[in-house]
Amino acid sequence: MFLGPPGAGKGTQAERLKADLGLTHLSTGDLLRDEVKRGTPLGLEAKRAMDAGELVPDAVVVGMIRDRLVGDAAANYLLDGFPRTIGQAEALDAMLAEKRAPIEHVLLLSVPREELVRRLGGRWLCRNCGKSYHETFAPYGGEPCEATGGKCDLYQRDDDRSDAVANRLNVYEAQTAPLVDHYGGRGLLRRIDGERGQDEVYGQIASAIQGG
Ligand code: ADP
Ligand code: ADP
Repeated sequence: MFLGPPGAGKGTQAERLKADLGLTHLSTGDLLRDEVKRGTPLGLEAKRAMDAGELVPDAVVVGMIRDRLVGDAAANYLLDGFPRTIGQAEALDAMLAEKRAPIEHVLLLSVPREELVRRLGGRWLCRNCGKSYHETFAPYGGEPCEATGGKCDLYQRDDDRSDAVANRLNVYEAQTAPLVDHYGGRGLLRRIDGERGQDEVYGQIASAIQGG
C-alpha cells in the first residue's frame, strides 16, 4: 500500500513496482476518473467532490474496491490512493479478513508541501497508458506509449490546475495523515524519502520491501 499526499510520487512508483513484481495496481483516483469519463451514475456522483478537491464518500470508494478485491483470485495488489480515511482503512481490514489476505507493506512517501505544489502544477499524464510526467522534473521524451505504441497523449488534470490543489493537501493532512498512526501502530509502516530523484525513491522502496 502506498500512503502519501497528492503529488508524492505514488503513481510514478506504482508503475515501476507493478511491472517488476507483477502486481495488480488499484488506484481509486484512476478508477474514479474512468467512471467520470464514462459518465456513469457513480462518476456523476463523484465528480463534484473531485473537482473541489474533497474526498468522495467512503461508501462509494469502498464499494468500488470491494467489487475488485473480494472474489478476485489475483494474488497480489498494490493499493494506491486507498484507503484515505480511517473509515476506509477499517472497511479494508474487514475485506482482507474475508479474503484471508494480510497487508504486507505500507510505504509512506514523504515530500514537503512546497515541493508537492511544484509537482502537481507541472504534472502531465498520458490519457492512454496513465503514466505521469512533469514539465521540468520528468519531461516526456517522445518514448512509445505503453498502451498504444504511438506517442503519449498528454493532458493536465483539472484538479491539478485549480484551487483544488491547496484543498487536496489540507484534506490529506486532516483525513489521511491519521492513517500513519493506524498502520504505524501495527508495525507495518516504512517511511520513504519521496523528495529524492525517482530512481533513488524506487531503491528505497525496493529495499523496504525486501526487509532491508
Ligand atoms: P492524487 O494522486 O493527486 O492524490 P488521486 O488520483 O488519488 O489524486 O485522487 C483524485 C481525487 O479522487 C481525489 O482528490 C478525491 O476527490 C478522489 N479520490 C481518490 N481516491 C479516493 C479515496 N480513496 N477516497 C475518497 N476520494 C478519493
Ligand atoms: P501521486 O500519484 O502521488 O499524486 P505522481 O506519481 O503523479 O504523484 O507524481 C506527481 C508529479 O511529480 C508528476 O508530474 C511526476 O512526474 C513528478 N514526480 C514523481 N516523482 C518525482 C520525483 N521523485 N522527483 C521529482 N518529480 C517527481
